[in-house]
Amino acid sequence: TATEKTVIESWPQSERRWARAPDVLGGGVSTGLRAQFRPHPLFFESGSGARLTDVDGNTYLDYVLGWGPNIVGHAHPQLIGEVTRALARGQSFGAVSDDEVELGRVVMDRIPGAERVLWTNTGSEAAQIALRLARAATGRRRVVKFGGHYHGWTDAFLTGYRPSPDGSLGGPGTLGHNPGSIADVTLAPWGDADALAAILADPTSDVAAVFCEPVLCNTGVLTPPDGFLLRLRELCDRHGVVLVFDEVITGFRIARGGAVERFGVRPDLVLLAKAIAGGLPLAAVVGQAAIIDQVRSGVVHAGTYNGNLTAIAGGRATLDILDRPGVYARFEALTGALTDGFTEAFAAAGLEATIHHVGPALQVIPGVANAATVDAYFGADWAFYDALVVELLRRNVFCLPGGRWYLSTEHTQVQVETTIAAMRAAIAELA
Ligand code: PLP
Repeated sequence: TATEKTVIESWPQSERRWARAPDVLGGGVSTGLRAQFRPHPLFFESGSGARLTDVDGNTYLDYVLGWGPNIVGHAHPQLIGEVTRALARGQSFGAVSDDEVELGRVVMDRIPGAERVLWTNTGSEAAQIALRLARAATGRRRVVKFGGHYHGWTDAFLTGYRPSPDGSLGGPGTLGHNPGSIADVTLAPWGDADALAAILADPTSDVAAVFCEPVLCNTGVLTPPDGFLLRLRELCDRHGVVLVFDEVITGFRIARGGAVERFGVRPDLVLLAKAIAGGLPLAAVVGQAAIIDQVRSGVVHAGTYNGNLTAIAGGRATLDILDRPGVYARFEALTGALTDGFTEAFAAAGLEATIHHVGPALQVIPGVANAATVDAYFGADWAFYDALVVELLRRNVFCLPGGRWYLSTEHTQVQVETTIAAMRAAIAELA
């Protein structure tokens, strides 16, 4: 058919570059996870709106969006304008600027309960400073995190995210890991309030903080069980533990005020990154003044690039674009349509799958009907999905391994329909 003729057979320019890149870049990529792309990582030339163009001249509808940050698409004119104007005033003053204070107010306005902001550059740094603040506030040492949750690549948190080859979950997430940091982590099962109650009730538990992704985006975009976040809040209150919501993905995405607004539960600290600045490196810890103001009394918060003008300008533009009327309703409608279309595409082929979304974050869990747990996600048919991702790429749809899809303000209904058609064709190719 005419459509089949347009299917991409190979990516000769990308392939050539990919063969040589490891001679320069360690691992051939700048972040290890990007090496997972099949058949090999593509070299992209440019992006505009919801589209990317690769070095072979192919264009794609982009559902990777820089692994989440590019919530206003690529090269949004307002973002470019604000960032360019900021850059023309200088890169970074190494002191303080009105820009940092003003964007801080904008962020605090959106996140219920936020009394202070600390700027950092990445989600991993935000998690690290939040843990330090929690330890200083409580005088305790340990951190509770949940299986399948991700809080960045530092030793303090890189455990309990993905199972080790032997199936266990609590081991080091990397070679070269400091065993001492794992010793400070207690891993708890997500959604089991009684298990957490038992951990915190132990008088020797020494827990400073409980960290969680309030919607477990990294492992299935799983909505928390009813009432679970509130139980977390109550348990942390009862035991004097700092509750941290890692909203690096959910922040400004699943609602204007993220999960805090959507679920009506206030943690002590919130981590923000990704969508906050539309693709520029900006992150933040926001929350209680009493905890964050410890940076004036002995807690070190440092970073040469913290609050730099260009990243802050990216934040100003992005949050302003997200405030346009109807943005979140549109996310809901478009991602809902994609969810329905994918569900029908799998069903029509007689394949089991769970497909759901929270705002513009969509998840496909292949091979499992009604998957609602971390274990169901781990046990899904990822070999099939890896093949599916390649078939989608051949049909000009770029999406992540692992089943998560992101939509931006720039995606359209027509593009969603094109994508559903590509999904049907990709599934048919594999069936
Ligand atoms: N927390 C969550 C929930 C994330 O998804 C990520 C990154 O994907 C991080 C923290 C780490 O953020 P960064 O990659 O900016 O260090």
